[in-house]
Amino acid sequence: MEYFLAIFGSLPRAGPGSHECTRRAYELMTGVPKSPRILDIGCGPGVQTVDLLKISGGTVVALDFLPLMIERTRSNAAQAGVAERLEVLEQDMRQMDFPPASFDVIWSEGALYNLGFENGLEKIRSFVRPGGHVAVSEAVWLKPAPPAPVVEFWRQYPEIDTIENKLAVIERLGYRREGHFVLPRNTWTTDYYDPMEILLAGKSKEWAGIPQGLEVIEEARHEIGLYREYSDYYGYAFFVMRRPVE
Ligand code: SAM
Repeated sequence: MEYFLAIFGSLPRAGPGSHECTRRAYELMTGVPKSPRILDIGCGPGVQTVDLLKISGGTVVALDFLPLMIERTRSNAAQAGVAERLEVLEQDMRQMDFPPASFDVIWSEGALYNLGFENGLEKIRSFVRPGGHVAVSEAVWLKPAPPAPVVEFWRQYPEIDTIENKLAVIERLGYRREGHFVLPRNTWTTDYYDPMEILLAGKSKEWAGIPQGLEVIEEARHEIGLYREYSDYYGYAFFVMRRPVE
């Protein structure tokens, strides 16, 4: 964990995403109240948390189970001058238990998969008020018949699926679809894999002779190489949905 965090904990973002995509997903939501109350699940370093605070003018509860991520979110919000509307919650998302209809919007970029897409959407349904929104980015197949190394890599997340099948899950759970889009390739590279590669180059010297450290580097390089070669086959899509007014 120590070596993993030294890499993944110090990147600008902790997963694929961009300011533009956060805004685009936000704008797919219709009828959001002024100053909404938003839950950001798996906030990581808080880049999208700060974006949400700026775009919405509301309050954001940023939840993550890593103290490092909570601290970075707090510090990013302070630097952006929006910390007074930020609440942080250091908690395992599996333990989330909010009163019904606690939020106008529930957001999660590249993190709800820790609960599973379907299980996660089901769990949070009661936390968002009727008529409120949920926006989640999630791993999807973009092309059929991915090559063997890609299939092997994604064994770690068997719920990766086509956009059509994800939309079917959303409808089956009783949400109304508001829109979706595939995150462009630069959201994987600019703030994520590009700085990761630079970091890995430095760490491979620093950690020479430390097998656990070198293993983390090896795995990260494999992940980056796979994406650079096969990004046509998989990616992230943002799904925006609404809990119907019952
Ligand atoms: N949303 C951020 C972003 O896009 O930069 C972070 C995405 S990162 C891939 C996933 C985040 O979820 C990490 O910050 C990690 O600490 C957090 N996380 C993973 N499992 C969790 C759990 N069980 N409970 C709470 N947070 C968790």
